[in-house]
Amino acid sequence: MAATDKGASRVLIIGGGFAGLECARTLAGDSRFAVTLVDRTNHHLFQPLLYQVATASLAAPDIARSIRQILADAPNVTVLMDEIVTLDPVAKFATGSSGGRYDFDYILLAAGARTSYFGKSEWADHTLGLKSLADAQGIRRIVLSNLEKAELTENQGDRRRLMTVAIVGGGPTGVELSGAFSDLVHRSLRTNFRRIDTSKLKIVLIEGSARILEAFDEDQSEYTRQRLKEIGVEVWTGMRVDDVRKGSLHFTDGTVLEAEAIIWAAGVEANPLTAMLGVPLADRAGRVTPNGDLSLPGLPHVFVAGDLVRMKDADDKPVPGLAPAATQMGRHIAKLLKEEKRLEQGRFADKKLDLRPQFRYLDKGFMAIIGKNHAVAKAGKLKMKGLLAWFAWLFIHIAFLIGFRNRLSVLLGWAFAYIRDNPEARIIVNPPGTKPQW
Ligand SMILES: Cc1cc2nc3c(=O)[nH]c(=O)nc-3n(C[C@H](O)[C@H](O)[C@H](O)COP(=O)(O)OP(=O)(O)OC[C@H]3O[C@@H](n4cnc5c(N)ncnc54)[C@H](O)[C@@H]3O)c2cc1C
Repeated sequence: MAATDKGASRVLIIGGGFAGLECARTLAGDSRFAVTLVDRTNHHLFQPLLYQVATASLAAPDIARSIRQILADAPNVTVLMDEIVTLDPVAKFATGSSGGRYDFDYILLAAGARTSYFGKSEWADHTLGLKSLADAQGIRRIVLSNLEKAELTENQGDRRRLMTVAIVGGGPTGVELSGAFSDLVHRSLRTNFRRIDTSKLKIVLIEGSARILEAFDEDQSEYTRQRLKEIGVEVWTGMRVDDVRKGSLHFTDGTVLEAEAIIWAAGVEANPLTAMLGVPLADRAGRVTPNGDLSLPGLPHVFVAGDLVRMKDADDKPVPGLAPAATQMGRHIAKLLKEEKRLEQGRFADKKLDLRPQFRYLDKGFMAIIGKNHAVAKAGKLKMKGLLAWFAWLFIHIAFLIGFRNRLSVLLGWAFAYIRDNPEARIIVNPPGTKPQW
């Protein structure tokens, strides 16, 4: 195996999301590995709370942290901000848009997923996705700016369009966004405007199949639909989008919905770098199926993890596209590399590939919040809904924010504002149509 001057194996990690960061953290401090983590942004993002940034409950820095800072104490890990544009798994190098070349002995591709428009990429011009901080800030800016414009205009038609938010995709992201927009206009902004009644904001959640939250049980889907109705969200199921134009959604049954803000939460596809791995793609979403140890067939030095993977684990259970699954995969790969290093130096050197452990996913369940005080959760046979599930959500996310922000005062500020329905993150920076000030 090639190595650095000091004999360390070069590990290239593409992506500082849940999978990549966990792999780097597990290898941190182990001088047998020279790790390079490349991410096109300078921060690790906690995507499960993106919708709170989009709906003005949290500010961007609350859910993102500098990758460089997280790994500051690991001398064997180098963090670089660059976008990987090519990848050659056989010649063992990747290149970045900066012109940089990254040679490796092992590589982990953990570049996640991006918003999918089912082959209609032109729809992206008229919709807002929710995958990055920029997306979340864009949604917040446009929805808040539309309310400002609605307050200004006397034209009832314009006001109706400005005060309609369409959310396509009835999965957890769509449900959480709809509930949070309802909270925003019914609770937080209730007394802020004089000419418009913000509680009249029309929020439409659109799902192509027969029910929302398909991954949950049917009674939980029905509970969610009822709860959304109670808080003023219209739920349209069985409605397939045929076309998206500026300010309007067109459905296959001829229905047209005019909405100034159209949010696309209908699906994701793997990062296009998977096409450079030289293995067949497992589905139309561009994901790849690795061996049970998370390496690729015929390429034992190439690993994949997180949202760009489609696989069943060692117990034949499908591994979901969730943060805990990505984290567990990243950790599995790092532990495997460490163990392999040990074997390499011992008498099992020729057997190391046969001895590789297979990935086993520990299912921690999933949940969706439906506005304040209500949520649904499912973990194995355990099911929860209502206030209890909401408290479980709050507990888990507060625990996360404590670890993430490391400042109890900021956390308490958020919790206080959240409970009082008075979030601070409502400032519109660079309203649509203006140029940033340098
Ligand atoms: C709105 C939303 C809500 C969610 N809610 C939940 C939830 O409640 N619970 C849950 O468990 N999961 C949730 N998820 C899913 C969860 O966030 C993902 O499963 C998880 O982030 C996958 O981790 P990953 O490491 O594969 O990818 P990511 O975390 O997406 O990280 C990928 C990283 O790769 C970087 N990257 C991409 N391309 C390149 C490139 N070419 N060069 C360099 N770097 C690159 C990106 O900048 C990013 O940092 C949610 C996702 C979204 C979008």
